[in-house]
Amino acid sequence: MKLRIFLCVIGVVVADGPARYDTIVVGLGSAGVTAASTLARTGRRVLGIEAQGRIGGRVHTVAFGDGLVELGGEWVLGTKNSRTYAAAQQHNVTIIPQDWSKLVYYSDGTPADSQLISQLAEHRFDDGPDPPEAQGNFTTGKILEDITKNRPDLLKDQDFISGILSFVELMVNNLEGSSDWNEVTTGGDYEDLEGDQSLSWHRHGYKTFFDIMLNTYKGGPGLPNLDLKLNTEVKVIRAPQHPTECVIVECSDGSLYEADNVIVTVSLGVLKDKKSTLFSPPLPEDKQTAINKISMGVLDKVVLAFDQPWWTQNISRFLFIWKEADRKKVPALDLWTTKVVGASRPMGSSNTLTLWISGNIAKEVETLSEDTVKTKCVALLQRFMGDTLKVTVPEPTAILRTTWYSNPYTRGSYTFDNTLTPQYPDARDWLARPLTDSSGAPRVLFAGEATNRRHFGTVHGASETGYREAMRLVNKTYITIYPIFWGDKPHGWPTKSGRWPNK
Ligand SMILES: Cc1cc2nc3c(=O)[nH]c(=O)nc-3n(C[C@H](O)[C@H](O)[C@H](O)COP(=O)(O)OP(=O)(O)OC[C@H]3O[C@@H](n4cnc5c(N)ncnc54)[C@H](O)[C@@H]3O)c2cc1C
Repeated sequence: MKLRIFLCVIGVVVADGPARYDTIVVGLGSAGVTAASTLARTGRRVLGIEAQGRIGGRVHTVAFGDGLVELGGEWVLGTKNSRTYAAAQQHNVTIIPQDWSKLVYYSDGTPADSQLISQLAEHRFDDGPDPPEAQGNFTTGKILEDITKNRPDLLKDQDFISGILSFVELMVNNLEGSSDWNEVTTGGDYEDLEGDQSLSWHRHGYKTFFDIMLNTYKGGPGLPNLDLKLNTEVKVIRAPQHPTECVIVECSDGSLYEADNVIVTVSLGVLKDKKSTLFSPPLPEDKQTAINKISMGVLDKVVLAFDQPWWTQNISRFLFIWKEADRKKVPALDLWTTKVVGASRPMGSSNTLTLWISGNIAKEVETLSEDTVKTKCVALLQRFMGDTLKVTVPEPTAILRTTWYSNPYTRGSYTFDNTLTPQYPDARDWLARPLTDSSGAPRVLFAGEATNRRHFGTVHGASETGYREAMRLVNKTYITIYPIFWGDKPHGWPTKSGRWPNK
């Protein structure tokens, strides 16, 4: 054993022993691919291990309709200091802003005053009070204040008031992945990147970002120092105490790997599920607290393809507001349909529509059969759009629906700042803190969107964390000599404005 340890330290592969690397990256989503490719470009021997049969994690581009659709991350949210935007720019991939024109419909088939609804819904982005409050209480107050001041006639219209409040709650829940807008805090440190908030990879697909990082874009040869192992679930990560010992990674298929250090990029949902079995020794208390206190939200998409588009061509979003009388008539089993916020047109195809659903209701919809989901969604489109446009919504030619919560390798869509955040403001930093050996050297490092205090819940934020952890391991002088392809400096934090345009 002593000999094995010695050989591990000097980097010699022991005959018949586990394969040995400088660094193993667990998970090949945005954070993992950034970390793995950044390290491989510095000459380190890196192994990326991914449980699923594809690279991308919560970014998943799929051929659908007459083009592509995104089942996970869809837009580049801001341009300044964005790793995703910079990757596209530097490889001359045109990403284009989605026009967010919208029409709002009522459940009785009548069109709503889209301008008024938009203006009221914008209050979800108002700066919150100090100390922070629950988002729902705060935004309700702001909306009612606005109506009292500018449209007092509407105060008596209870149907309008309850309709707009339920609708804005759905918008908040879609943005955060929450089940109730009062789970979300008005505090927290989230910051938008400056610039356009809705740039689409359209017919290139978000997968291009990964091709660029892995040097496989346009038939590139890949990265010679990087081995990728798909369809391989990491079961246990054994962190050493002694500086001369390796980190050992055990996989469900029985394979074993050794490395100087491991970067773990699995989602917060997976950490919540697996924290007691994935790490040996068990995680320290601050990390366990962080895992318990941060919330993992759920946002699911149902994407329908049609022979050809039947909707209004120059509009991108169709949003739904239920009238109380109509909602009351919906059978209990179908109540989830009243929580679908609306439909949007993906930019990667011209004959598809995406319907959006979030929180606990999304988890429930994941358990329904595809046929049920399809039939109910078509009925919903007929009620809100077909009747107004005087068209019969045709039978979809195909359906794709996401199951981000049921997927054991994601267990949710992305994290949000909940009402506990003001009490645990450093929880994301605790999650990001590496586990060290007795000499203080980082041996198990943590990346992934949840570990990004300001840009969590995004592809660029996840990528920043992969870069952050790679840099923790890399000799700084190297970076100045061989800049990474989109710049060599950790990014500064921009100022706050709005957030995802679709939600
Ligand atoms: C529906 C939806 C819409 C979104 N929209 C946007 C958007 O428009 N813009 C935006 O910027 N962001 C968006 N996001 C968020 C964004 O996609 C994520 O924040 C980001 O992709 C997370 O990357 P990550 O590397 O942190 O984690 P992941 O992508 O989850 O990567 C972790 C990887 O670890 C793997 N893994 C898990 N367990 C194991 C194991 N035991 N062994 C080996 N591998 C394992 C997983 O399979 C996964 O591939 C959206 C997300 C969803 C779900």
